[in-house]
Amino acid sequence: MAKYVYDFTEGNKDLKDLLGGKGANLAEMTNLGLPVPPGFTITTEACRHYLAKGALPDGLEEEIAGHLASLESAMGKRLGQADDPLLVSVRSGAKFSMPGMMETVLNIGLNDESVHGLAKQAGGNERFAWDSYRRLIQMFGKTVLGIDGERFEHALDELKGSRQDTELSAEELQGLVETYKGIVLEQTGKDFPADPREQMRLAIQAVFDSWNAPRAVLYRRQERIPADLGTAVNVVAMVFGNCGDDSGTGVAFTRDPGSGQQGVYGDYLPNAQGEDVVAGIRNTIPLQDLERLDKKSYDELMAIMATLENHYRDLCDIEFTIERGKLWMLQTRVGKRTAAAAFRIATQLVDQGLITMDEALTRVTGDQLAQLMFPRFGTDGERRLLTKGMNASPGAAVGKAVFSSERAVELAGQGEDVILVRRETNPDDLAGMIAARGILTSRGGKTSHAAVVARGMGKTCVCGAEELEVSPAERRFTAPGGVEVREGDVISIDGTTGEVFLGEVPVVDSPVVEYFEGKFDGRQIDDELVKAVDRIMRHADSARRLGVRANADTPEDAARARRFGAEGIGLCRTEHMFLGERRQLVEDLVLASTDEERQAALDALEPLQKNDFIGIFRAMGDLPVTIRLIDPPLHEFLPDIVDLSVKVARGEASDKERRLLDAVRRLHEQNPMLGLRGVRLGLVIPGLFAMQVRAIAEAAREVPGARPEIMIPLVGAVQELEIVREEAQKILADAGVDALIGTMIEVPRAALTAGQIAEAAQFFSFGTNDLTQMTWGFSRDDVEAAFFSRYLELGVFGVSPFETLDRDGVGRLVRIAAEEGRKARPDLKLGICGEHGGDPESVHFCHDAGLDYVSCSPFRIPVARLEAGRAALAEKNDSDTR
Ligand code: PEP
Ligand code: MG
Repeated sequence: MAKYVYDFTEGNKDLKDLLGGKGANLAEMTNLGLPVPPGFTITTEACRHYLAKGALPDGLEEEIAGHLASLESAMGKRLGQADDPLLVSVRSGAKFSMPGMMETVLNIGLNDESVHGLAKQAGGNERFAWDSYRRLIQMFGKTVLGIDGERFEHALDELKGSRQDTELSAEELQGLVETYKGIVLEQTGKDFPADPREQMRLAIQAVFDSWNAPRAVLYRRQERIPADLGTAVNVVAMVFGNCGDDSGTGVAFTRDPGSGQQGVYGDYLPNAQGEDVVAGIRNTIPLQDLERLDKKSYDELMAIMATLENHYRDLCDIEFTIERGKLWMLQTRVGKRTAAAAFRIATQLVDQGLITMDEALTRVTGDQLAQLMFPRFGTDGERRLLTKGMNASPGAAVGKAVFSSERAVELAGQGEDVILVRRETNPDDLAGMIAARGILTSRGGKTSHAAVVARGMGKTCVCGAEELEVSPAERRFTAPGGVEVREGDVISIDGTTGEVFLGEVPVVDSPVVEYFEGKFDGRQIDDELVKAVDRIMRHADSARRLGVRANADTPEDAARARRFGAEGIGLCRTEHMFLGERRQLVEDLVLASTDEERQAALDALEPLQKNDFIGIFRAMGDLPVTIRLIDPPLHEFLPDIVDLSVKVARGEASDKERRLLDAVRRLHEQNPMLGLRGVRLGLVIPGLFAMQVRAIAEAAREVPGARPEIMIPLVGAVQELEIVREEAQKILADAGVDALIGTMIEVPRAALTAGQIAEAAQFFSFGTNDLTQMTWGFSRDDVEAAFFSRYLELGVFGVSPFETLDRDGVGRLVRIAAEEGRKARPDLKLGICGEHGGDPESVHFCHDAGLDYVSCSPFRIPVARLEAGRAALAEKNDSDTR
């Protein structure tokens, strides 16, 4: 029979699939002998069953009852026992952390009788007991019964007036419980359930259900967490942080998640329960102050944090509660961190002897590296500082201030950059946080919801800017000195320093880009980060098998790509060489009515092309340069059909323009992307490709060491390639130049007949932009704006296939082509030059598919190098564990 429930003593940290992150780590801490309240975990498997069938699996309730009985006997009291109640919390916990997205209910087991028993347990503390009871009804009402949380908060606010919640008396809280019960009856037509077991059962189901709450669905999509994992549920004996001044609750990191620095980082809230901290409801005190308040617990906490870091060999974040001077650990996990901290911590841990360089490489990602390459605010020029908050998630964000999640989504949808300004955020703000360039809050610490979620998303965030008076209803905030910022006013926020500026602050290069450019001046503030990036990049380079080339078509781009580590050019598009003043020559080419006229136009283009290639060959030295012959349809280089028609109709056109209009009409296509472009153009316009090949050969002759490779686009049949190749080979032979001749694989037919095509190609380069377009039948210029948001919403795919290579479909074609191509020609070189070449997941695919190199835009090259190293390690680790 399936086992759906595990006691904390039965699990361990490697069982995250089954027990969720929280459950697995609670078990791990229990087994380490740390002070964890006893409890048990209901598996994700039970959740998946419940969500699929709409009912709990057979036997689950009995299993839960059995574990509850053990818990009761361990604690020496029964759930909700009137004179001495055991209370439990019911907490969600999925495999991947989803901060605040799912539900948790505390204080289960309280009712009109057991509330007195609880007061007795707490030495006659009636206030504490009634506060716990009102919290149960409030959380249960919102989470389990689906009542609008505002109803409860409003009642609490009315009662509090200008006081803190800690100042409410036992009698007042008792009155509040009655008010809350009234709200439940009015909203649901039923009494608040007094039976503790029913409370627990309903709470467990509500946690399961919360897996599919809209904000959880949205978060998973954003973070690319699979939708079918389900959540585990942890039932944990309650410990109380709200028993008085010798109690409290807090969150802590074993090092600074913003910078990686070692030290004491965290927030503590005396006399409170956990949800108060994360929600930023009252202002927390720094964790250091706990030393003064309760030295014994503080010292114990520090020792536990050291144990956890050594055990997990990584930064951990923890949640803890102190109940009347006794420390309890409620959660730990390997903590989220900023991109800069990820690099720094990884190398710090290597230096401490805790991890190897291989592991350090697995601890950072290409996305994090990309974030570090974003520009940041410059210090020159006028900057009007409004205030300084906490530097919760780094980056430089500029945008119009908005004061609600809805407005953020609305304005961002219109293409505006916005900064979401809130007092504090809660999980309902998620959509707005995703839409905004940055997030600014006036309350809450570095561990508040806004900070945790923003860091996870890599979004700039300044939190706890307490000097700001934020009025969401009036859509404005007031800064010190009475400066008022209204919706639509532009502000700039610096998540690295916590500064908030009025107006737009100009941005400058990041130190990591300076480092790649060879321009970093060693300044101290960025030095540790740059050194960490350097070490990890070197290690990635030594680990990777994939080559990394650049998509570059100017000498400047080529030179930058080389500085960034490109080992060649994988795609030099020649289209731009037909633009600008050269359009004139293209027009002449199209209008030519005799061979002589056409040749004259080509002869005029050739030296210009040759010069373009000389510049690129010089920039790349003896590295290979793959030049793609012209690809887009010719009409793209001609005047617009409408403008020209108007001019002709008005009688303002010259004779040439009238002839041009005829040509434009002739060349007009309904589906130009499927029309006369690529190799087809080369076959239809005699001499065009030959001119380009001659220009390449002549340029190569002038630059010693140049290594041109000639690439034919849009081939679908080997016959097309054979014709072009024959002509090109002859030109190269005449010039005495050696160059590989290969093709792009971007038409599905080419992939499916790769065995034939490889007979005529020395290399393949997968043009996955077109290959994706043609495999899915998606117009690459139109669909993303037209309907991809709907497709993402419907879960047709979790990410656009133009962004991350679709392994199942497009990837299958790539594998077929690679395999059949290599069978026909074992030394066939394989690369990719679509946009996917710089996308982390796609780089892993390319490694797995056995390609020789990826080619991407210069700025993505470091990302591709890093991910190529990680892909090689992943393969190694896979085979090690097999
Ligand atoms: C491709 O199709 O993937 C490609 C690199 O070519 P282009 O984007 O120029 O069509
Ligand atoms: Mg293409």
